[in-house]
Amino acid sequence: MSAGLKGIRVAVIGGDERELYLIPELQKQGAYIVGVGFENASPIPGVTLVQSLLDAVGQVDVLLFPMFGTDERGAVKAKYSASPIVLNKEVLQAIPTRVPLIIGFARPALKSATEKMGIQLVETIYLDELAILNSIPSAEGAIQMAMEATNITIHGSESFVLGLGRTGWSVARMLQGIGAHVTGVARKPQDLARAVEMGFRTVHFSDLEEEIGRAEIIFNTVPHLILDRVMLEKVARDAVIVDLASIPGGTDFEFAQLLGIKAILAPGLPGIVAPKSAGRILAQIYPQLILRHLTTMIANVQS
Ligand code: NAP
Repeated sequence: MSAGLKGIRVAVIGGDERELYLIPELQKQGAYIVGVGFENASPIPGVTLVQSLLDAVGQVDVLLFPMFGTDERGAVKAKYSASPIVLNKEVLQAIPTRVPLIIGFARPALKSATEKMGIQLVETIYLDELAILNSIPSAEGAIQMAMEATNITIHGSESFVLGLGRTGWSVARMLQGIGAHVTGVARKPQDLARAVEMGFRTVHFSDLEEEIGRAEIIFNTVPHLILDRVMLEKVARDAVIVDLASIPGGTDFEFAQLLGIKAILAPGLPGIVAPKSAGRILAQIYPQLILRHLTTMIANVQS
């Protein structure tokens, strides 16, 4: 057991099942946990629950917000909270500059407010080490959704994976493992070359319009409107689209519905399909991240 977080006071604010698995892991490493928004969860041993976010900010070394972050009004997603938790100006002003604010996804308004106030904001959703590990439950969840939405087996299906990034590679490789005929769609020659090496068929995005018609299942990971009206016109009406890209996804869902194509936007899969694993992934990454940012803060204060 590592005691790397001994003596460090961490506020865990809101979230979902993932935080219920994350908290004991942080405690095992010696962290003292202050919880905000867990009134409706089963009691968590050793956690000091406080009533409001404002109560927490003054007594901790680190603030941990959930992967989803906040909505546009600053409300924190908090499945077990008895009342809304809002990350507003009053709270931000109360955060000491030595305290890093760690959050999955930060909205532009939060980014600019923290920058103006000199608060150290750490956005974790784009960290390679987290995104790659999270791609495992994401890929499993996406394939599970496809299984539920289709009337064919994944084995032998013509499955297209749009975007070969951290998530796309995992989806493609898992599909291949189940026996799908995988087509990887990318724009970088090196990604297409790697896809060939891995035994996938390949299509460059510039040729997708001519090829998409043979897809039975389409997994999109590109966070831009790829499956627009023109592209959807070419998609088989009985194909299924599972769109993993961050909200609003990369599909014109309204038009897909008009055409009778089943298209599913599937955000936040790790927390939905495998909260325990997803919580453990956070627990694997966050202790080092916390230590790194606390050290940076101390170094900045001393210099
Ligand atoms: P990533 O590693 O950056 O991969 C994104 C891929 O999209 C890259 O291969 C990129 O290609 C490609 N791409 C971006 N813009 C493009 C464009 N205009 N045209 C063609 N290709 C384009 O990101 P990731 O970590 O895989 O995440 C992908 C998306 O899934 C994000 O929106 C992320 O938030 C979301 N996500 C969702 C879940 C879930 O549970 N639903 C889980 C994990 C991630 P280039 O390298 O050529 O730019």
